[in-house]
Amino acid sequence: MSIKKPVNVAELIEWDWSNFEPAYQELTACALAVANVEEWLREWTRVIELGDELSSRLFTATTVNTADQAAESRFQHFMEKTYPGLTMADQKLKEKLLASGLEPAGFEEPLRRMRAEAAIYRAENIPLQVQEQKVSTMHDKVMGAQTVTWQGQERTVKFMESVLRQPDRTLRQQSWELLADRQLQDREEINQQWQQFLTLRLQMAENASQVDYRSFRWQQLSRFAYTPQDCKSFQRAIEKVVVPAVTRISAGRCQRLGVKTLRYFDTFVDPSLQPALKPFSDVKELVSRVSSMFHRVLPTFGAYFDTMARDGYLDVDNRKNKASGGYCTSFSFSRRPFIFTNAVGMHEDVQTLLHEGGHSFHDFETFALPYFQQRHAPMEFAEVASMSMELLASPYLSEEMGGFYSRQDAARALREHLETSICFWPYMAIVDAFQHWVYENPSQAMDPANCDACWAELEKRFRPELDWSGYEDIMMTGWQRKDHIHQMPFYYVEYGLAQLGAVQIWRNALSDQSAAVASYRRALQLGCTQPLPQLFETAGAKLAFDADTLNQAVELMEKKIYELEEQA
Ligand SMILES: [Zn+2]
Repeated sequence: MSIKKPVNVAELIEWDWSNFEPAYQELTACALAVANVEEWLREWTRVIELGDELSSRLFTATTVNTADQAAESRFQHFMEKTYPGLTMADQKLKEKLLASGLEPAGFEEPLRRMRAEAAIYRAENIPLQVQEQKVSTMHDKVMGAQTVTWQGQERTVKFMESVLRQPDRTLRQQSWELLADRQLQDREEINQQWQQFLTLRLQMAENASQVDYRSFRWQQLSRFAYTPQDCKSFQRAIEKVVVPAVTRISAGRCQRLGVKTLRYFDTFVDPSLQPALKPFSDVKELVSRVSSMFHRVLPTFGAYFDTMARDGYLDVDNRKNKASGGYCTSFSFSRRPFIFTNAVGMHEDVQTLLHEGGHSFHDFETFALPYFQQRHAPMEFAEVASMSMELLASPYLSEEMGGFYSRQDAARALREHLETSICFWPYMAIVDAFQHWVYENPSQAMDPANCDACWAELEKRFRPELDWSGYEDIMMTGWQRKDHIHQMPFYYVEYGLAQLGAVQIWRNALSDQSAAVASYRRALQLGCTQPLPQLFETAGAKLAFDADTLNQAVELMEKKIYELEEQA
């Protein structure tokens, strides 16, 4: 087989569909049999690696410099001219493999996903997906335009959320009210978009002969290891175990803040009212200290990270004309991950780099797998890799252990992290339960007033500690401000499940750090060659939805929080 490989990345980024086409034609024409299917899959992998790296390179170029017009048009051109060809060609090869009935070793999991995709694939859904994408873009526009004038300057939602960390309560309240008023101005428009989203989605499910959109989505997300009923068990477990823990944490918070009831705008500030942690003065320091933390977790991980730093695969500083947020992507042909963050000198930056570092080690560990389709673990486990790394590296946060802080500040950082993690579960449960209600009751959910009522109920059930009196409108429209609900339906429980996995791995590490890290690494190496429960198991955890497992996790986290409070 004959894909002419590019000499280097500079050549690759000039590629278009015509460079890929001959190889895809050969793969399509090849008569598949037991004797040649493995070679065929390896060839396919070589082609996909190139397309995948091309796509990642062009995308990252638009984020590292948003003012780079050439990068922008190259990416646009790719999306319009090359991407559709690649997607259709890959689709054809998937169909070809499925039709062959062959089951190559190590390909069981990828085949399962392909079968699920094929089962719901309908040509008449493609225009609906295009429509959905358009509504989604409009949704982004509405949300992105939500700026306010604060202290004489135009500020984004993201900026205003940072004001919520201010010790001054009046400032927090004023900034939050200002933002809330602005968000409520778009209430009607978001309601209308919501109805369009729902209409399209119900139609897609019907076209695919599914009983409802949820079962359509379940297959689309390759959720083979758990059911909607499991998600509901998880919600009930959170209600039983986590809500009381959050109530305890919140009571302590009220006391320390000296407030009678806890308002939403009181939940982000450090209750000790100490000034924010200042972990580093420049990104060189950030990278070198995080490197020494990774080396202590495992020398191999440290070496991976150093390779990325040395070869230019880390872009961590915040600067003008850089996209916001953080991500880790991989360059499959070069066999290097790429980490993108916006570090400004806060503890959050340390946490983000540890998190993305976990994702990047997952990539490094799976590049060796022979087939591209074996490499990307399901989201539920991909987030275990990253969330666990935040916890596995936590013993090294203090300067004497290679990290950033005095012993007291290291304790404070971990305590905050654990508190935030506990408080995340009930919110995740609200987002998840809301969507189950929506797609079980689509005709009711078509009326936004019913959505408001449902969300309000869920707030009461999962976050009873919050006092929303006087702010009912902003409370009941919480579903409007969660982009996953609008743009990535049902995609959120993954984070809650992964977090429970990560805490179990951390628990193992507290009694035997090196054994826990070894199991974690073995699980990363599996990529997606094993079903989800086995990935968790190999990592030393259980994919769990029950109150007992959750209770053990929360008990440990709370115990640690109290210990750390005494150290801080
Ligand atoms: Zn992540």
